[in-house]
Amino acid sequence: MILDCAIIGGGPAGLTAGLYTTRGGLENVTMFEKGMPGGQITNSSEIENYPGVTGEISGMDLMMPWPEQCQRFGLKHEMVEVTRVSKDGDIFTIHKNDGTTTQAHSVIIGTGSRPRRVGFAGEDELFGKGVSTCATCDGFFYKGKEVAVIGGGDTALEEALYLAKICSKVYLVHRRDAFRAAPNTVERLKNTENIELVLNSSPDEVYGDAMGVTGLRVKNKNGELRDIEVPGVFTFVGNDINNQTLIQEDGSFLCDMNDQGQVIVDISMSTSVAGLYATGDMRIAAPKQVVSAAGDGAVAALQVISYVDELLH
Ligand code: FAD
Ligand code: NAP
Repeated sequence: MILDCAIIGGGPAGLTAGLYTTRGGLENVTMFEKGMPGGQITNSSEIENYPGVTGEISGMDLMMPWPEQCQRFGLKHEMVEVTRVSKDGDIFTIHKNDGTTTQAHSVIIGTGSRPRRVGFAGEDELFGKGVSTCATCDGFFYKGKEVAVIGGGDTALEEALYLAKICSKVYLVHRRDAFRAAPNTVERLKNTENIELVLNSSPDEVYGDAMGVTGLRVKNKNGELRDIEVPGVFTFVGNDINNQTLIQEDGSFLCDMNDQGQVIVDISMSTSVAGLYATGDMRIAAPKQVVSAAGDGAVAALQVISYVDELLH
């Protein structure tokens, strides 16, 4: 059987594409997601800018009902990692890490992004032993203790605020003295008593013993070193695009990309390849928001419905 549409990735973009394709009448639609559906927002302790959702809600709570809503309209879900998407004539082939393949008339890709590593000494060696990229997952281990947070964007500041409620003290280490985060978040940060700002400073080395991290050494712009004795270091320095599935056997990309590895799309989420649509954080000029990723999924799905109809009739 050839699928009407294969959806790669089950974050806000993929799930919304699943809802709109199936509810819009396509019968054979499968979403390929390597983990639990929901995407990276499920790592966020709090989301307060999804329209219509008020009150304190975690990313996990927000995303919980989305898969069930899609499945009610017939979306199928395969929990598997897609290794490559290729196209021969009008047919796409989805290559999976269990060695099997699936064919499809159209593809909506929304594989999002992943946390970037900062690149300081000890970061990789102590990852998972005190170095973390997820406050919701690991914050509780440091209840009543001191931790350090690296970064100056929305994620770093929001997660520092979250950790400040659990931990006795949070050192916010940022390489500049101005923040990328939204002004009201910066204001909240500055008004939080148990957050110390360590500005114009970058991590130099994280060190520890057999039990895990014991401290972080930071270097300021004058080259002065400071040791911060903490058992936990949380890094939030941005994301890299998950575009590996678009890489072909000869190393080229299936469709046009920009120099930052983002997929080039037009306003209908169409890529340079007919029948292939890219959505959410992985596309050019993505606002990197749940609401915009969901919007992209809906736009792409409506395009797919017309594309498949024209292709088959
Ligand atoms: P993602 O959410 O990244 O989902 C992609 C999915 O694809 C993942 O589930 C992944 O497992 C899957 N996948 C990847 N590769 C493969 C593969 N090869 N095969 C199969 N599956 C694959 N946005 C807001 O609007 N408000 C906020 O308050 C907010 N807070 C945030 C806090 C944090 C800590 C983070 C990290 C992000 C936050 N964001 C927030 C941004 C928001 O989470 C993203 O913009 C949004 O999740 C992007 O959705 P997406 O569907 O494009 O990708
Ligand atoms: P980001 O906005 O790219 O910020 C990354 C931060 O890490 C920057 O402050 C950057 O410093 C710093 N950094 C990068 N590389 C570094 C290095 N090697 N060493 C030290 N510091 C380094 O990433 P993000 O905060 O994850 O946000 C990603 C996107 O999601 C953004 O568009 C953001 O607005 C969005 N988001 C939105 C919300 C929300 O709406 N509430 C919440 C979370 C995320 P410089 O500032 O000096 O470059």
